[in-house]
Amino acid sequence: MLLEHLATKLQAIAAKDLTRVLRVAESATAPVQTVRGADGRARELLMFCSNDYLGLAAHPALAEALIAGARRYGAGSGASHLISGHSAAHAALEQAVAEVVSGEIPQAQALFFCTGYMANLAVLTALGDAGAAIFSEELNHASLIDGARLAKAEVQRYAHRDMAQLAALLQASTARIKLIVTDAVFSMDGDLAPLGELLALAERHDAWLIVDDAHGFGVLGPQGRGSLAHFGLRSERLVLVGTLGKAAGVAGAFVAAHPTITQYLLQAARPYIFTTAAPPAVAHALLTSLELMASGEGEQRRANLRQRQAQLREGIANILAAHPSLNWRLAKSDTPVQPLIIGDNAAALALAARLEREGLRVPAIRPPTVPAGTARLRITLCAMHTEAHIQRLLDALAQAAAEASA
Ligand code: PMP
Repeated sequence: MLLEHLATKLQAIAAKDLTRVLRVAESATAPVQTVRGADGRARELLMFCSNDYLGLAAHPALAEALIAGARRYGAGSGASHLISGHSAAHAALEQAVAEVVSGEIPQAQALFFCTGYMANLAVLTALGDAGAAIFSEELNHASLIDGARLAKAEVQRYAHRDMAQLAALLQASTARIKLIVTDAVFSMDGDLAPLGELLALAERHDAWLIVDDAHGFGVLGPQGRGSLAHFGLRSERLVLVGTLGKAAGVAGAFVAAHPTITQYLLQAARPYIFTTAAPPAVAHALLTSLELMASGEGEQRRANLRQRQAQLREGIANILAAHPSLNWRLAKSDTPVQPLIIGDNAAALALAARLEREGLRVPAIRPPTVPAGTARLRITLCAMHTEAHIQRLLDALAQAAAEASA
């Protein structure tokens, strides 16, 4: 019965062009990856889909640090943090992260999590107790949505960037504890939350602002310190989640906040307490990531990334201007995440498949990840893309646009 039931569901997913497909990477050196296709053949693809924004994942210094960490601490942590899995590398990383964000969050302390998904579940379930209210932005990442669902707090959703609606909800709320929760960079759209306005609302309504900076940490702000620094914000009312598998190039995540909050998370956050600590070598390598991010090399990589963003946007805008009958739309983005909205699921898939035949991997993102009717190519850039790489993508898009509008 279960198998028939699932087979019917799988058919329904396929009928809507929504089947997700796993791909096997044989090797990767940003931004080129060797991928085995359905025919079993390996080919090199120029990738426009990684979150490795600074191209650090394949940085030799990080690979060396990972090896050094493994030699020193072994391959695994052997237990959860509170039993015996918390190594000197974890402690050093938490200290280093706290220092990085101390300009934005006074007295910040940090906790290291195995993944950003777990960090978000931890923050929302631990702080979103019964009697609290969570005010959640509608385009938040799935891990924040799931965290809010698991929390005992009441959950209210506000429309994308709608500060007037959020202010009204806060005003009407009688909850003892109010938590505003937002992505800093919206992962499928690339635009930024108005963090300054959100913090002002939090201050006005005695609320706390929980910011998931998965796509901003390492990319935005001075020394890549992230979205809070980009906006020049500083407050005790901030709880910051940063992921370390994207721009930082390794894996894991941190939560940084006032010490009372992190101390409470240590006692109450189930995704921290009831899981084996990440391998210490990962934490050890991340210390090198943080150094690279803040270094002149990190600055150089961010500068290159910004140049490529501008080149891509200008190029796509020119293509769209040349084909006014096309319904494609360039989303307004402030980050290396640049969506090109196609609309129809099948059309977005066909465009992605066409690009892939030309050796370019740009994923089509479809509902339910994005709202119905807004299927898109989600182009992500990394610091290792060259001007010629971007031009290759633009040429292929120009060709596809000419054919689609013919
Ligand atoms: N938040 C956002 C906004 C994300 O995009 C992601 C990952 N795609 C996560 C959290 C989860 O982070 P991780 O991959 O480390 O679990």
